[in-house]
Formats: sequence, C-alpha cells, structure tokens
Amino acid sequence: MPELPEVEVTARNLRRWLRGRTVDAVEIPATRIVRPAGPRALVELLDGAVVRAVERRGKWLRLRLSTGTLYSHLGMTGKWVKRRRQDPSERHERARLDAGPSSVRYLDARLFGRLVAAHGEAPIAEWAALGPDPLVDGLDPAQLRPSLARIRRSIKETLLDQRLFAGVGNIQATEALWRARLNPERPASSLSAREVGALVRAIDASINETLQEEEGPEIRYVEEPGAPNPFRVYARQGEPCPRDGSPLQRIVQGGRATVFCARCQR
Ligand SMILES: [Zn+2]
Repeated sequence: MPELPEVEVTARNLRRWLRGRTVDAVEIPATRIVRPAGPRALVELLDGAVVRAVERRGKWLRLRLSTGTLYSHLGMTGKWVKRRRQDPSERHERARLDAGPSSVRYLDARLFGRLVAAHGEAPIAEWAALGPDPLVDGLDPAQLRPSLARIRRSIKETLLDQRLFAGVGNIQATEALWRARLNPERPASSLSAREVGALVRAIDASINETLQEEEGPEIRYVEEPGAPNPFRVYARQGEPCPRDGSPLQRIVQGGRATVFCARCQR
C-alpha cells in the first residue's frame, strides 16, 4: 500500500513528466474514484491545462494547474505511470493525460484511490487536515511529546494518525519502531523525551532508506506478486531479527498487523 515514500517517488516522477507541460488530451472513463465531482468536471479541468507544480503532503498529491488543482490519493493500489502516446490503454487504467509525446496514466486495480478536481485557493478538507509531514516540514520532538503525552492508545496505532505523522502508514510505523527499539504496544504517553527523539530519527531514516530503494519510474507495492520486500522487518514474521537474530513476531493492533522483535523492542 502506498505510504509517504511511494507517494514521494510518484510526485518526483510526475514533476519530471508533466511540470511546465500542457495537457493536450484527456480520457477519464466513468469510475467511482473521481469524486465528489465526476469525470466530466475533471476532463474540463485538465484539458488544455498547464501543469505548474506537483506537490505532496502525507499520502496526497497535488497538481497545481493553470485552470485549478488536481488532488490525487493512491488508495491501496493506485499508481501513476508514463507510457508513449500510441501505447494502448491498460487493464485498470482510470485516467489518461497526454502531453506531447508522453501519456501519463493512472492505474488502480482496487479503486480505493481518489481524483479530486478543485477550483480556488482553499485546499480540500483532506489536505487541510494533515499534520506535519516528516519530509516536507520535518517532525519536531519537542512539539510532538506533549501531544503524545495525552494519548493512551499504543504508539503503533498513534503513528498512523495523519494529524500527527502525515504520510506514515503501517509499513513505516512498523519499521520505525523496530529501528527505535520501541515496543509497539507501549502507550504513546509513556515515551520519554529521549525516546520521542529516537522515534523521529527512526522515521526519517526509514523513509529515506525506502526512498533510495524505490526511486524509479514505476512503483511496485510489496503486496504485489513477485515484488521484492525492501523492508527490514515488515512482513517478515518468523524471520530472524536483523539486529539480534530472534524470530520476529506478528501481532494485530487496531486491526493492522505489526511485526516486531520481542528481544530488542521491550
Ligand atoms: Zn531484535
């Protein structure tokens, strides 16, 4: 599933493919991912638009156009890819933006993604609700600790709160807790200042390592058949902990799996 690194790689690609270009043909078949306004409004927004900037915040992408704004969320399986203009449509293709010789396509098998057409300066509610983004803003342990001190639920579940850690999802939360040697079941309120600092450094390190692993013209999600697992502990239950060799364990918290090492994450 897309998290901050996968969306950041996508933002870098879209910037390279589209910034400064004019969208000269658009095709958006009827699909539920284009909402609240439907495909027709999106085609009107995009047709003839110049792409001025491509931004990312948390797991959201924002394309600033000469005609308005396009927001994109990749949901569970979404990806933006570049093809040649003459290449045929693909299975699961939900949108197609042609610009000169290039054709940028949005593919989404499971349809949990979103494409939102917007006008005016005010961001959509989903974007406005996002808290600090580790890459865009940086996380500040001094600001974070008082917020965490009020939260009784586990630090693992808290890491998924987009108002506190925009872009962190199940994978990055699992990886960061392992790096910081923190037990995922600890209440968020129990973390000391030193531990909050270690957690912030671990989030940054994990995101940067994933970005290096995944940088490239096409995202592959770890859940896809045959895709490599670039992560240290995520989805590696039963394998040895990379630090001390103990078998990694899997628990479920708030309906989501967490993999951790009971020896070094006490
Ligand atoms: Zn360990």
